[in-house]
Amino acid sequence: MSAPTQSQLFSPNSRSTQQEFDVIVIGSGIGGLVTATQLAAKKAKVLVLESYTIPGGSAGYFDREGYRFDVGASMIFGFGQRGTTNLLTRALKAVNVTLETIPDPVQLHYHLPSGLELEVPQAYDKYLQELTDRFPHEREGIHKFYGECWKVFNCLNAMELLSLEEPGYLVRVFFQNPLACLGLVKYLPQNTGDIARRYIKDPTLLKFIDMECYYWSVVPADLTPMINAGMVFSDRHYGGINYPKGGVGQIAQKLVEGLEKCGGKIQYKAKAKKIITENGRAVGVELATGEVYRAKRIVSNATRWDTFEKLLPAEEMPASEKKWQQRYQKAPSFLSLHLGVEASVIPAGSACHHILLEDWDKMEAPEGTVLVSIPTVLDPDLAPAGYHIVHAFTSSWMEEWEGLSQQEYEDKKEEAAGRIIERLEKIFPGLDAGLDYMEVGTARSHRRFLGREDGTYGPIPRQKLMGLLGMPFNRTSMPGLYCVGDSTFPGQGLNAVAFSGFACAHRIAVDLGF
Ligand SMILES: Cc1cc2nc3c(=O)[nH]c(=O)nc-3n(C[C@H](O)[C@H](O)[C@H](O)COP(=O)(O)OP(=O)(O)OC[C@H]3O[C@@H](n4cnc5c(N)ncnc54)[C@H](O)[C@@H]3O)c2cc1C
Repeated sequence: MSAPTQSQLFSPNSRSTQQEFDVIVIGSGIGGLVTATQLAAKKAKVLVLESYTIPGGSAGYFDREGYRFDVGASMIFGFGQRGTTNLLTRALKAVNVTLETIPDPVQLHYHLPSGLELEVPQAYDKYLQELTDRFPHEREGIHKFYGECWKVFNCLNAMELLSLEEPGYLVRVFFQNPLACLGLVKYLPQNTGDIARRYIKDPTLLKFIDMECYYWSVVPADLTPMINAGMVFSDRHYGGINYPKGGVGQIAQKLVEGLEKCGGKIQYKAKAKKIITENGRAVGVELATGEVYRAKRIVSNATRWDTFEKLLPAEEMPASEKKWQQRYQKAPSFLSLHLGVEASVIPAGSACHHILLEDWDKMEAPEGTVLVSIPTVLDPDLAPAGYHIVHAFTSSWMEEWEGLSQQEYEDKKEEAAGRIIERLEKIFPGLDAGLDYMEVGTARSHRRFLGREDGTYGPIPRQKLMGLLGMPFNRTSMPGLYCVGDSTFPGQGLNAVAFSGFACAHRIAVDLGF
């Protein structure tokens, strides 16, 4: 009998494919795609199953009336050209694809209570000067705190970042960089708040450090692992923030191009319904359509809650996952306003990213901190000539959006959008009058389009933990099943999930002998 053709293997009518893959990745978020491309580059037979119509998940995009909106992420780390922490550059290069990026001279413009206005330029010295100008009595503390962040970063940036659960790699990397490794071991159980308080006493400056953490970790400094802070607070000045030309969605598109060049496959509109197990081992995936695919290893890029409560039976959740859930909870989702506005609303020279908060006590509250990205400041081609994109988002819980009729839901979205626009008027006067397009996303949209339980941004500690020590690596307690993405070490953010992808692929490659 002749071997089946590809079209037979992927026929929508066939219930079970005959081809066995080395690895199936459920989900094409950046974590999933980095895992898939790294393995495909090593000649593994890889299949990615994506429930949506395009890749990228929270780093995806959508087109409306001439505007190209980023779904979520717009402040992109990992596109530097030197060191080892530039994981997006490295992930693309590994599969022979490139992406033009636009350097962002200012990472962020803060608009904080009591008129604390501050920009974070790429030049480190300039940033420290900006901060010490506002807190001159804390000059020494500021230098020491950020200096300590550099120590973390320099350790990370001295070594190849792969799987910390692969003993061969650990031994190799230790002998290559013993000091860097010992440095990381020291910082791994530490949180940023403790280190900040060691050097800084001014309560407003400590609140500012809380906000420095919150805008990406969605928790204050006390709950933010020092390893992550060391990366973010240093790499913005080292590799810098670089925006992909054509929008953030290009990263996933390019990774898919590279995956396919290396012989890997991706199937869209392929919603995994369950992970198939045999004798306690993950061996395949069943789609909502009933199709079944088998592989030697299964990787879930869905959140841990989706993986262990939906793709696997919740009542059989392994003890280790229950324990993890006692330590970590779901972060809130976001209320997202995707706006098209007349160019005159955004003053020339505005930074791409802004943060607005009027009352320190509301930093973590729903609709407290508002994050704004205006990617057209860097890439005007994302909007029609004479217009800008403004993506404003703020934390919002699923409970606020459930149990509403369609009309109530639409009205509530409109009211919430009105409140945010009114606040943004303070930094962008004329925003309301200059609106050309508006689409509002809620926790429900994030759940629906990104396949994330309650639309969550990801896991956050329930209480103060020992830094990053509690975040699981890629292997799970089910043989054959791995997790990748922001529910795994080291957490949220594109460069972080890329790290998780490198680590996951490395562990699997060793397990399968690639
Ligand atoms: C509003 C917002 C703003 C953000 N801003 C930034 C930023 O500026 N900078 C930054 O670095 N990070 C930012 N982030 C965080 C960053 O986007 C995420 O941490 C990261 O993209 C998560 O990647 P991931 O690989 O874990 O998976 P995800 O992006 O969650 O992708 C998972 C993929 O799996 C698919 N999937 C899920 N379940 C199934 C299933 N059963 N079957 C098939 N497919 C499935 C989904 O459709 C999705 O495509 C932001 C996030 C949000 C929401």
